[in-house]
Amino acid sequence: MNGFNNNLLLDKTILVAGAGKGIGLACALMAAECGANVVAVARTQSDLDALIAQHPKNITGWAMDVSSNEFFDLMNTLPYLHGLVNNAGINRVGPMDKQTNDNIDAVIDLNIRTLYKISRAAIAPMRRAGNASIVNMSSQMGFVGSPNRTLYCMSKHAVEGVTKAMAVELAADNIRVNTVAPTFVMTPMTAPMFEDETFKTFVFDMIPLGRLGKVEDVANSCTFLLSELAAMITGTSIKVDGGWTAR
Ligand code: NAD
Repeated sequence: MNGFNNNLLLDKTILVAGAGKGIGLACALMAAECGANVVAVARTQSDLDALIAQHPKNITGWAMDVSSNEFFDLMNTLPYLHGLVNNAGINRVGPMDKQTNDNIDAVIDLNIRTLYKISRAAIAPMRRAGNASIVNMSSQMGFVGSPNRTLYCMSKHAVEGVTKAMAVELAADNIRVNTVAPTFVMTPMTAPMFEDETFKTFVFDMIPLGRLGKVEDVANSCTFLLSELAAMITGTSIKVDGGWTAR
């Protein structure tokens, strides 16, 4: 019986968009540990160098912006692609009536438009692979609202919606599409938020399991969805939220 083992992603080519820090870094590392050939994409060369040093044989680094033409040109050269982790995402925290047009554009551009474009570019090499999985990094904020996060929630609700639509459209090509939806995880993106004690208390009170997520919690679900263990799973989400959205 095929079950959990250390070769879950053996010989699969998996691209992680936004792999330099935080959740994407953990997803890239775990995929490499499970035998995948990982293409790690991040803007900062030193972040990529540190990642590659841990698995020099099976991680390749592309130092570039995932919304750049250079990146899409390189994606077009991929002969095969078995997995894509659409992890690059940003947040601009603030009350709805104070959000600038620049903030709205930045969040929509990366979290929605670029995610769509990367997925679009993945289709051809995924068809050639014959069997593939896309994991869109969503958030618990793709299911609920929260103060000062309406802009981010809009983008992550869109990620949940487009994931279902992609899953239906791409199923004929044997491409599965799902999301991982974490609660707050301590990463460079969220570290400054937790300097505010009132906010920290609010977050811990909202999570029934009483702790923040770890990057490994998220990477475990991502690895599962990329693997054949999830062969019958598409168009859905794994909420790694400690129960936040169950309240
Ligand atoms: P992070 O900012 O710590 O790391 C994101 C990584 O993506 C970094 O390496 C960054 O350089 C890279 N990146 C961002 N924009 C890029 C671009 N244009 N081109 C190339 N690389 C780019 O973020 P994180 O907290 O690890 O978040 C990763 C994803 O998880 C995001 O989609 C975020 O919305 C989601 N998420 C995070 C949390 C959390 O609490 N940290 C919770 C739920 C969802």
